[in-house]
Amino acid sequence: MNIIYELDLQKVTTIGIKSKAVGLIEVDTIEHLHQTFDYIHNEDVQAMLLGNGSNIIPSKEFITYYLIKIKKRNEFHAKMAHEKVYVTARGGDSLKRFVMWCADKGLKGVECLAGIPGTIGGAVKMNAGSFGGEIGDFVKEISVWHETQGLLNFKKEEIDFSYRNISLPLEKGHWCIWEVIFEFSRQDPKIVKSRIRENYMKKKNTQPVLEKSCGCVFKNPGGYAAGYLLEKAGLKRKRIGDMEFSHLHANFLINRGKGTPAQAMELIEIGKKKVFDKFGINLELEVKII
Ligand SMILES: Cc1cc2nc3c(=O)[nH]c(=O)nc-3n(C[C@H](O)[C@H](O)[C@H](O)COP(=O)(O)OP(=O)(O)OC[C@H]3O[C@@H](n4cnc5c(N)ncnc54)[C@H](O)[C@@H]3O)c2cc1C
Repeated sequence: MNIIYELDLQKVTTIGIKSKAVGLIEVDTIEHLHQTFDYIHNEDVQAMLLGNGSNIIPSKEFITYYLIKIKKRNEFHAKMAHEKVYVTARGGDSLKRFVMWCADKGLKGVECLAGIPGTIGGAVKMNAGSFGGEIGDFVKEISVWHETQGLLNFKKEEIDFSYRNISLPLEKGHWCIWEVIFEFSRQDPKIVKSRIRENYMKKKNTQPVLEKSCGCVFKNPGGYAAGYLLEKAGLKRKRIGDMEFSHLHANFLINRGKGTPAQAMELIEIGKKKVFDKFGINLELEVKII
């Protein structure tokens, strides 16, 4: 078991806020997961799965958590059956590498995942997506490890995919998306790649993709874009210390360099309050605050 104590969260989250956690444990096998949770229970510290840290904001300068990360292999395996292609990926694998691999093979639909900087496990947990599609559209089956139930398989029909979330019929306790099988139909790779380029350019023109951020802070409340509501409530460019609501897209909180958890939390509260005062709408968080 490989443990890094006093983990610097600036290194493992895309928003890069100054904060530390108790430790990071990297796991490569199911046996490691068993050992890890036995160890954590003895330590009496909280635990949480970490993907690429692209949808996480630490709320304090020290987080009393062990973060558990599945070692990435980025070795994807494809099987053909009739007109379909089934691809297996590990929870810790890079979504970006997966999207490019699928594009090379001409697998239709991955375009909606272009430019999302997560892992396979994090993206499935968040049911990530854009441009009218989400990862759940292509999931056929997932293997989930649960701390008391062990390794379980869920078919698509047993998984409840909703807007930026999934729920599974599991007992209470820690669990982790270990492996995912996707189902795709085929298309000319040139078409898939050109759609990926197109989508990425659209993203780059409308979102601060090159800044330190965690993607959208709030979910879009039914019928509205959270970015629009925040902009109309005067939050674009609103800055406290080094944290700021982006001028390009008000639903992106960006770290200008030395942002702190307190500054981020204060801006989130202000954003919620201003939108509620102006529109009577309660914004719900999309990011995970730890
Ligand atoms: C520039 C930028 C653009 C973005 N654009 C989009 C977009 O267009 N659409 C979109 O949906 N999102 C977007 N995001 C948000 C983010 O990239 C996605 O939510 C992504 O899927 C999160 O994956 P991750 O691996 O980074 O997860 P993390 O941020 O590490 O974790 C997110 C959640 O998933 C859980 N988790 C992680 N791995 C596992 C696992 N193996 N098993 C169980 N739970 C797990 C964590 O515990 C946490 O609750 C963007 C983010 C950035 C920074």
